[in-house]
Amino acid sequence: MFRPNNDYLKLRGSYLFSTVAKKQREFQEANPDKEIIRLSIGDVTQPLAPVIIDALHKAVDEMAVAETFKGYAPDLGYEFLRKAAAENDYKARGCDISPDEIFVSDGAKGDCGNIQEIFDKDCKVAVCDPVYPVYVDTNVMAGRTGVFDEVTETWSNVIYMPCTAENNFMPDFPKEVPDIIYLCFPNNPTGGVITKERLQGWVDYANKNGAVIIYDAAYEAYISEQDIPHSIYECEGARTCAIEIHSFSKNAGFTGVRLGYTVIPKDLKSGDVALHSLWARRHGTKYNGAPYIIQRAGEAVYSAEGKKQLSEQVAYYMKNAAYILNGLKSAGYEAYGGVNAPYIWLHTPDNMTSWDFFDMMLEKAGVVGTPGSGFGPSGEHYFRLTAFGSYENTVAAVERIKAM
Ligand SMILES: *Cc1c(COP(=O)(O)O)cnc(C)c1O
Repeated sequence: MFRPNNDYLKLRGSYLFSTVAKKQREFQEANPDKEIIRLSIGDVTQPLAPVIIDALHKAVDEMAVAETFKGYAPDLGYEFLRKAAAENDYKARGCDISPDEIFVSDGAKGDCGNIQEIFDKDCKVAVCDPVYPVYVDTNVMAGRTGVFDEVTETWSNVIYMPCTAENNFMPDFPKEVPDIIYLCFPNNPTGGVITKERLQGWVDYANKNGAVIIYDAAYEAYISEQDIPHSIYECEGARTCAIEIHSFSKNAGFTGVRLGYTVIPKDLKSGDVALHSLWARRHGTKYNGAPYIIQRAGEAVYSAEGKKQLSEQVAYYMKNAAYILNGLKSAGYEAYGGVNAPYIWLHTPDNMTSWDFFDMMLEKAGVVGTPGSGFGPSGEHYFRLTAFGSYENTVAAVERIKAM
C-alpha cells in the first residue's frame, strides 16, 4: 500500500497569507464601498522592460527557423548567459567566479529549496528569524528539522538567529555551530542589509567551523549604499564556504518569466567531495533548466540598455519605498528597511501584536500589510509593507496611515 511522505505531513499550513486574504475578504464584504490598498504585495507589478521584450521576440523568431532552432539547453545553462553573469555580477565587482561555476535555473525559489538535497540528512540548519519560509519548509520536507513546538513556534532541530532592531537585523553567531547557514541580504522581510565587515565575519566563521553558507542575493539590485556587498564573493575566503543564489525576479520583473542561477565555486568541498559536482549531477538528472528564449531575455538584463531600463524600474519601486519609510517616520513610527530593499519593516506602536496592528490598519486605514510574526517568532511586534504597488496607491496608503 502506498504511504505519503511523512515529512510532508509535518509542514505547517500557509496560515499567514491565507489568514491575510481571509481578513481582507471579510472586511471588503462588510465594507463594500471602501477601497482597500494592498501594501502586502510580494510580487513585482511593472511590466517587462522593452529591452527584455525585444530579446524575447528575437529568440522566439530564432526558434521558427531550422538553422537557429534550439532543443534541450545545456545542463548548466547557455554559455552566453553564464558569461554575462560572471562578467557583470562578479568580475565587475572584483569577485573570482567563472562561468562554469554558474548553474542557470528557472528561479531562486527552486534553488533555495532544492540545494539542501546535496547535504546529509543529519546536517544542522541555521536560519535568520524572521525568515523567507522556503529555507525551513524544504528542510522540513527533507526530514531535517525535528519536531515543531507549538508554543515557541520553532523546530527542535533548527537553529534560529534572531534579527531585530537590537542587532540592526544582522544575525549574531549562534551558540551551537550549524552545518548549513542560510543568509539573505538585502533581506525579505526586514529590508535589512549586512555590512561587508559583518559578512566577512560570517565567511570566516563558516570556514573555521566547516559550515556552508547559502547566500540568497535576490534583492542585490536594490542596494543603494556604498559599503553594502552585492555578493558574498566580495568577501575573502567565500569560495571555500559559500553558495550564492540569484533571481531575475525582483530586479527585472521575471516572476512570471522564471529565471535564476546558483553559484557553486569549485573550491567548495567537504573532504575531497566538491559540491559543484553533486549539483551538476542533480542538474543533469532531475532538472529541466530554463528555456533558450528566457535565457536570451536574461542576457538582455546585462546589456547597456537593459541595465538602464531596469535601474529605472528598481528606482520606481524604491521611490515608493522612500515614500513609505519617510511617511511612517514623520508619523512617529519606528520604521526600518526601505533603503536597500523594497520592504519596510515597522515596529508596531505600543508594542501591539502584529495581528492586532494588522486589524487596526485594515479597519482604520483600509490598508493591508503582512504581520511580522508570520515570518518567525522574532517577527512578532513587527509589520511588513512592500514597495511593489503603484506610486499612486502607495501615496494614498501612506496618507491614510498618517491620518489613522
Ligand atoms: C522573491 C524571493 C525569491 C524568489 O525568487 P524567484 O526567482 O522568483 O523564485 C527568493 N528569495 C527571496 C528571499 C525572495 O523574496
